[in-house]
This record gives sequence, C-alpha cells and structure tokens, in this order.
Amino acid sequence: MARRKKIYEGKAKILYEGPEPGTIVQYFKDDATAFNAEKKDVIDGKGVLNNRLSEFFMNGLGQIGVPTHFIKRLNMREQLVRQVEIVPLEVIVRNYAAGTMSKRLGIEEGTQLPRPIVEYCYKDDGLGDPLVTEEHIAAFGWASQQDMEDILSLALRVNDFLSGVMMAVGIKLVDFKIEIGRVYDGDFQRLIIADEISPDSCRLWDMETGRKLDKDVFRRDLGSLTDAYTEVARRLGVMPQNATPMTKPTLIN
Ligand code: 5GP
Repeated sequence: MARRKKIYEGKAKILYEGPEPGTIVQYFKDDATAFNAEKKDVIDGKGVLNNRLSEFFMNGLGQIGVPTHFIKRLNMREQLVRQVEIVPLEVIVRNYAAGTMSKRLGIEEGTQLPRPIVEYCYKDDGLGDPLVTEEHIAAFGWASQQDMEDILSLALRVNDFLSGVMMAVGIKLVDFKIEIGRVYDGDFQRLIIADEISPDSCRLWDMETGRKLDKDVFRRDLGSLTDAYTEVARRLGVMPQNATPMTKPTLIN
C-alpha cells in the first residue's frame, strides 16, 4: 500500500496530501492541548466527535451559502477538504465575555456583550497567538483591506448561524475561533472558512445549568471532555442515541 504524504502535523490534526490536486485529507487526532501545549492529554474519541461535528457545522454553513473548505467526510477520523493558503490570523467572535477577554478587561465571565465583538490574533504558537489590530494586519500585509471586510462578514455570518443552531438545542454560543483560507479560481482569489469548527474552538454553555460543553472542561479540569462533546453531538443529532464514542464509536453514515 502506498504511503500518504504528510503535509503538516498540528496539535489536534494531521494534514495529508489528498487524492486530487488541490485537496487535503484532514485527520482528527485524540490529542488535547491547552495553554499553548503546556497541558496535554489524549482523550479517547475526541477526534471522532470533532470530525463529525466539524462536518455538521461546515455542511450547514455551505447550505446557507457560506463558503468552506469542506468537501466530504471520508471515515470516522478523516475528511476531504480543499487545499487553501491559510491567512495567518485566528478570528475570534465573542457574544459573552469569557477567557482572555475577561482577564484582559476585567469583565465577569458570562456578561453579555453589547454586540458581537470580533478580535484577531496573529497565528504563531511561539508567540502564543498574540492579539493584533487591523493596523498590524494591514502594515504587515497579512490581509488586505478587502480581505478584512470579507473576513468580518464571514465571521459574523458564522456567528449568526452557529448561535442559532446552538440556541435551538439549549446551548449558548459564548465565543468561537475560526481560520480563513485563501483559494484561487483563475485570476480571482476568495476567502473561505477553513480548519475546523468544533467544541475545541468554541465556548458552549448549557443555557439552563451553565454547564460547560467545550474545551474549557479540559483546560479547567471540569470532568470528562468526551462526555461534554458527546452531549453536544447528541443534542445536534450528530450521533445516534445509543452511541458510546469513548472507545469504539458506532457512527451513522
Ligand atoms: P480565548 O481568547 O478566550 O482564549 O479564546 C476565545 C475563543 O477562541 C474560545 O472559544 C477558544 O476555544 C478559541 N480559541 C482561541 N485560541 C485558540 C486556539 O489556538 N485553538 C483553538 N482550538 N481554539 C482557540
């Protein structure tokens, strides 16, 4: 059997060369990291859950006309995606104060923000993904003015979509992070949603109890991460009712 070419290995995913030019196979690992990889663990079934959840969100976005890199899920841990040039920014949208915003500005976690606030961080693990302004982005040429308008519009559309989907299943979308990819169609380039959308990159709180259903469970030692992600998947109808993804996932096609 021919060996696949590994293009990149990150903290939570591996990218392999895809079967066609311009495609990539994205493999979801069970590894969990936090605080710039200072805290690490392997969480059985996390990769399987994130593969399914990211498929669910990317498909939904595609259905409402938000372009994404997602092509199709290949198996329990892998999906086929479009190859993109990643814009070196983490785009964060916040609806409620939490995490670094609460720390930075002294706002109590859970405080509703007057409107969604979009932040940009420069993607550099060595620097701990520092917060940057549009001035830095323009001056260092990470994205053009037009790109920034498109990124803002994409980020807010993703926020509206995700907030609605989550609200329908009793979950509050506190904040999330997305990454943006650049694709070229002939003489034109456009921006699409890339990477993943999963509880690894969102803050999700149960609307009634406030229970955290996202990676903060791991970051803050709040219990079983698999249980939390399984609960999100169950509510969204992504996993069959009686599936137990902890060790041997049984997934519907
Ligand atoms: P904060 O800036 O409060 O740490 O994070 C804001 C939101 O972006 C949270 O939902 C968090 O999960 C997500 N986020 C920020 N940085 C990263 C990152 O490097 N990786 C992932 N997966 N999510 C991130």
